[in-house]
Amino acid sequence: MTDLVLFWHRRDLRISDNVGLAAARQRSAKLISLFCFDPNILERDDIAPARVAYLLGCLRKLDQNYRQIGGRLILIQGNPKTLIGKVAQDLGATAVYWNQDVEPYGRERDRQIKEQLTAQNIEVQEFWDQLLHPPGEVLTGTSNNCKPYTVYTPYWKNWSRQPKAKPVATPERLEELTSAEENVLEKLGAIALPTLLDLGVSWEAPFILEPGEEAAKIQLEAFCQQGIYSYDEQRNFPFNDGTSRLSPALKFGAIGIREVWAASETVMETTRSDESRNHILSWQQELAWREFYQTVMYFFPELAAGPYRQPWDRFPWENDDSKFEAWCQGKTGFPIVDAAMRQLNETGWMHNRCRMIVASFLTKDLMINWQWGEKYFMQKLIDGDLSANNGGWQWSASSGMDPKPLRIFNPASQAKKYDPDAEYIRRWLPEIRSLDTKELVTGEISPLDCQACGYPQAIVNHNEQQRKFKQIYKALKG
Ligand SMILES: Cc1cc2nc3c(=O)[nH]c(=O)nc-3n(C[C@H](O)[C@H](O)[C@H](O)COP(=O)(O)OP(=O)(O)OC[C@H]3O[C@@H](n4cnc5c(N)ncnc54)[C@H](O)[C@@H]3O)c2cc1C
Repeated sequence: MTDLVLFWHRRDLRISDNVGLAAARQRSAKLISLFCFDPNILERDDIAPARVAYLLGCLRKLDQNYRQIGGRLILIQGNPKTLIGKVAQDLGATAVYWNQDVEPYGRERDRQIKEQLTAQNIEVQEFWDQLLHPPGEVLTGTSNNCKPYTVYTPYWKNWSRQPKAKPVATPERLEELTSAEENVLEKLGAIALPTLLDLGVSWEAPFILEPGEEAAKIQLEAFCQQGIYSYDEQRNFPFNDGTSRLSPALKFGAIGIREVWAASETVMETTRSDESRNHILSWQQELAWREFYQTVMYFFPELAAGPYRQPWDRFPWENDDSKFEAWCQGKTGFPIVDAAMRQLNETGWMHNRCRMIVASFLTKDLMINWQWGEKYFMQKLIDGDLSANNGGWQWSASSGMDPKPLRIFNPASQAKKYDPDAEYIRRWLPEIRSLDTKELVTGEISPLDCQACGYPQAIVNHNEQQRKFKQIYKALKG
C-alpha cells in the first residue's frame, strides 16, 4: 500500500518551487495538502483586512492549482496543536511534511506538534523553503567560532557569494482521495473556504498584486522585463511604479524565492550594460535585506518584543494619543507623511521610501514609541511581516542593528528629493491638490490655505522636535 503523506501549507501558498511539497510528492503520490485557519494568528489584534483578503485569494488559487494535478486543498479551522496530530492519526498518515518558519510563534508551535506526532509514531519532515540561505548557513567567523551576523553589509557580502539553489520541480499528478478518506475529513470538520465576513473582516479595495502564484509569476516576469533595469534610480520615487510590488507574494509564499532569484540572475547574465547590472544588483540587495531580517529574527527572537539597543528601553517617549491618531489618519499637516498614511489606509500598501519617512516622523518628530507604529503597520499592511516590519521599524527608530544609529528624516527635504513635483502628494491628498507645488513639498501651507482646504496645520515643528530628540538621545547614550 502507498504511504499517505500530509503536507501542511503555512506561508508557502503555491505548488511550484516549493521545497517541502516537492519532497512530499517524491515520497508519495498519495498526498493530502492542508491549510489550517489558526485563531492564534487570525484573532490577533494586529491582523490586517488586506492581508486576510490576500490570503483567502491565494488559498482559492492554490486549491485550483491542486485540482489541475488531481488533488485539492483541505481546509481546517482551529488550533493546529490539536488538529494536525488528529488529522494525521485519523487519516492514517505515515508522515507530515512542512516548511519551517523563523518567527517565535511558528517555531514553538512546530516544536510542540513535532513532539506530539513523534509520540504518535508519525514521521515529521521539515524543510527550509522561504529563504535562499536558511538561518545558520551564512555566518560570521571561522568554523569553531561562528556567529550570526548583526550588521547587514558584511552579511550581504558573504550571502551574495554563496551558491543559490535552483527552483524545485512542480509536483506531478496526485492520487485522488478515496471516499473513506473523504469521510474521515468530513468528520474532522474540513471546511469550505471562508468568506472575509466569516473571518470578521472586510476589504474591498483593489489589491496591489492579485493573489496566487500565477499573478506573482506574471508580475515577476513584467518587472524583470522592464522595471529591474532602472530599479536603483526609480525605487525611491513613490509616485512611480519603480519597485516590483512582490512583497505580498513573498510574505505568503505565493512565489518561490528560488524562482525569484533565478529570474534576477537570468537578466543579470543576459544584460550587457554595467549600469543595468547595478540596477539588478540593487534589487538583489533588497532580497538579501529580507533574508537578513528573517535570519536575525530567528537568532534574536527577543527583537519581536522590544529594542535591540539597550538604552532604548528607557527612552522617554511622549506617546501622545491625539498625535498618534493624527499620524494614523494622515492628518499631521506634513503632506508627504499624510499622503503616505492615506496610501496605506486606502490600499494596504505603502512605498518603501514613505515607510521610512513616516516611521522617522512618528518616532523622532512625534516622539511616539516605534512599537505603536509597528503594530499599526501590521494592522494595515497587505505584506505585513514580523521580521521585515520589525527590522524596518527598529532601523527607523534607531533602536536596531544599524551601525549608523541616529537617522532623522526631514519630511520637507525628503519630499523635495523624491516627490519634487508633488505628484504623490496630490494623488493621496485631494483636498490640497490645487495648492502650489512648493507649498505641498515644503509643507509650508498658510493657515488660510489650510482652513480653505480643510487640511490641518502642522502638529509639530520639525526643527524643534529634532533638537529635542537629539538632546534626549545624547543624554540616554551618555
Ligand atoms: C518601517 C518599515 C516597515 C516595513 N514593513 C514591512 C513589512 O511588514 N513587510 C515587508 O515585506 N516589508 C516591509 N518593509 C520593507 C519594504 O518597505 C517592503 O518590502 C517594500 O516596500 C515592498 O515593496 P516591493 O515588493 O515593491 O519591494 P522591492 O523594492 O521590489 O523589493 C523586493 C523585495 O525585497 C524585499 N525587501 C525590500 N526592501 C526590504 C527591506 N527594507 N526589508 C526587508 N525586505 C525588503 C521585499 O520582500 C520586497 O518585496 C518595511 C520597511 C520599513 C522602513
